[in-house]
Amino acid sequence: MPQDIYDKVMMLAKRRGFIYPSFEIYGGCAGFYDYGPLGSRLKQNLENLWRSFYLLKDNCVEISTPTITLFEVLKASGHVDEFTDLTVDCKKCKQSYKVEGIIGEGISVEKAIKNNKVKCPTCKTILKNPYNVNLMFSTKIGIGQSRDAFLRPETAQGIFTDFHLLYRHAREKLPFGVVQIGKGYRNEVSPRQGIIRLREFSMAEAEIFFDPNDKTHPNFKDVKDEVLFLFDNEKEMEITLEKAVQTGVINNQALAYYMYLTQEFLMTAGINPEKFRFRKHSDDELAHYAVECWDAELFSERFGWIECVGIADRSAYDLISHMESTGTDMYALRKYDEPKIVDVKKIVPDMGKLGPLFKDKAGKIKTLLENMDVKDNEKIFVDIDGKTVEVPSNCYKIVETKEKQIGEKFVPHVIEPSYGIDRILYCILEQNYAEVKKKDEEYRLLKLKPEIAPIKVGVFPLVSDERLVKIAKIVDKNLRNAGIATYYDEGGTIGRRYARMDEIGTPFCVTIDHDTLKDKSVTIRDRDTTKQDREKIEDIIRHIKNKISC
Ligand code: AMP
Repeated sequence: MPQDIYDKVMMLAKRRGFIYPSFEIYGGCAGFYDYGPLGSRLKQNLENLWRSFYLLKDNCVEISTPTITLFEVLKASGHVDEFTDLTVDCKKCKQSYKVEGIIGEGISVEKAIKNNKVKCPTCKTILKNPYNVNLMFSTKIGIGQSRDAFLRPETAQGIFTDFHLLYRHAREKLPFGVVQIGKGYRNEVSPRQGIIRLREFSMAEAEIFFDPNDKTHPNFKDVKDEVLFLFDNEKEMEITLEKAVQTGVINNQALAYYMYLTQEFLMTAGINPEKFRFRKHSDDELAHYAVECWDAELFSERFGWIECVGIADRSAYDLISHMESTGTDMYALRKYDEPKIVDVKKIVPDMGKLGPLFKDKAGKIKTLLENMDVKDNEKIFVDIDGKTVEVPSNCYKIVETKEKQIGEKFVPHVIEPSYGIDRILYCILEQNYAEVKKKDEEYRLLKLKPEIAPIKVGVFPLVSDERLVKIAKIVDKNLRNAGIATYYDEGGTIGRRYARMDEIGTPFCVTIDHDTLKDKSVTIRDRDTTKQDREKIEDIIRHIKNKISC
C-alpha cells in the first residue's frame, strides 16, 4: 500500500522517539499513544509557548486540579446527561460506530437512519437502532462505601468549581482568566484516526470570566486591525477583528480577541497560514453549554480539516449550574460609583422548618433563598439538582429593611478557548514535514520552529580529533547550562550528522573544526538556509538565543 503523509510522519515519529503506540508489546490499544524522549520535549515546548501567550501576553493565572472528578460535579455541568455520542452496532462485524462518523456530511442523523443511509463501513449492512453512549470513563473513589466519579472529560470544571476562590484571588475584578493544562479523557466509541482521536489526551484550556454587560477586552484596541481567517456559511473571508465585531460576524470583542490570540499562537508554533481557518459552529452543532463557538481548524492531508481548538462563549451556564447544585455563591459584583441606600425585601430562611423538610438540601436552599430577589405575594421556587421545587411559605419570612449596597450582583459569563495539544502537535509535524533528495538519497526534514524544536542545537566535532572533541564537549555543556537543549554527536560523516538533526527538526548545528584551534571560532549552520556562519565561541550562546527568542 502506498504510504500517505500520515504514515510517513508517524514512522519518522516512532523511529526518532517522538511518538510510540502505547502498550505495543501487548498488541496496542486504539486511542492511546506515548510521547518518547523527543516528543515529550516538543510537547513541553508547545505547552510552554502556550503559557507565554496566556500567562504573559494575556495575564491569566494557572491552576491544577484533579483529573478524577466527583459524579456530582459532572452531573451539575450536564456531562452525565449530555456528553454522549449517538452510536450504532453492527451485529455481523461485532463493531460499534459513532453515527456521525459514518454518515456523509450535510445529512441529519435522523434522516440518515430513516432512509437506510447508515451502513457498516466494513460489511455494508444497514445499521438501525442508534443509542446514546456517555463518553466519560467512570470510576469509584474509595473501597466499600465509595463515591462515584469520572475521569474528567475537560479541565474546565476544575476551574468553575473554584470560581468563588479565584474571584477573590483576582481581587474581585473582571475580566480575569484562569488556565489549566492537563489530561482529559473521553471513551471515544471507535477511535480509528490514530493520534487525532485519543481516549486520553492533553488539553490546554483558558476560562476568562466577563461581566455579561461588558464583553470588551482591554487588549482589543492593540489588535483590532489584525486580520482573522474565517470560514462561515461555506464562505472564506479575511476580516479585521474590528470589522468582524462591528458587523456582528463575531458576537463580541472578547471572543474575537481570543480567536486572534489562538491564531497568533498557532502561527508562532509553526502552523502554515494556508492550512488554518476558523469555522463557526452551526446552531445544531453547539455543545450543550455553548451559545457561540468557533473552531480553529488545521488542514491535514489524511484527515482534511481537523478541529484543534474550540473557542466558545459558555455564557453563565456552568457557574449557574454549580451554584444551583451546591448553593455556593458564584456571583460577582458590578460596583456603583457611590454606595446606595436602598429599600430591600429579604428572605430570612427558617432552618427549623427547612431542615426537617429538605434534609441535606436545606443548606443549599437557604443560600439560594438569601440571594433571591423577592417579589410580593409570589410563590417561591428553587432549582435544586436539576429539579424545580416550591419552598412552602412557612419556611421563611420576608422582611423589609434599608441596605447599603455597593454594587449589583451578577453571574459572570465565560469565554473559553480549549486547545487539543496532541492534535496541534500532530498537525505541526505533518505541515512541517518535507522530503528532499540529496545525491539520489531520500532525506527527510522537519522544519520545526526554533521556539518549539525539542533540540535547539546539534554540537559536533568535525572529526574525532581529541583536541576538537574536548572543545566540542565544553561548548555542548555551556549551551545546556545556558538553558539551550543540545545533542552532542561525534559519530559518522558530518553530512549524516546534519541529516540526523534535520530529521528531528533541530534548527542549528555548531561544528568545531581545525580552524577553531587557531581562531577560537566555530561554524553555525542554519537548517532552513543551510547557510554556515562563523562565530567566536564566546558569542555562540548569544547568537543562538537571539535566533530562538525564547
Ligand atoms: P471540545 O471540548 O470537544 O471542544 O474539545 C476541545 C479540544 O480537545 C478539541 O478542539 C480537540 O482539539 C481536542 N479533542 C477533543 N476530543 C479529542 C480526542 N478524542 N482526541 C484528541 N483531541 C481531542
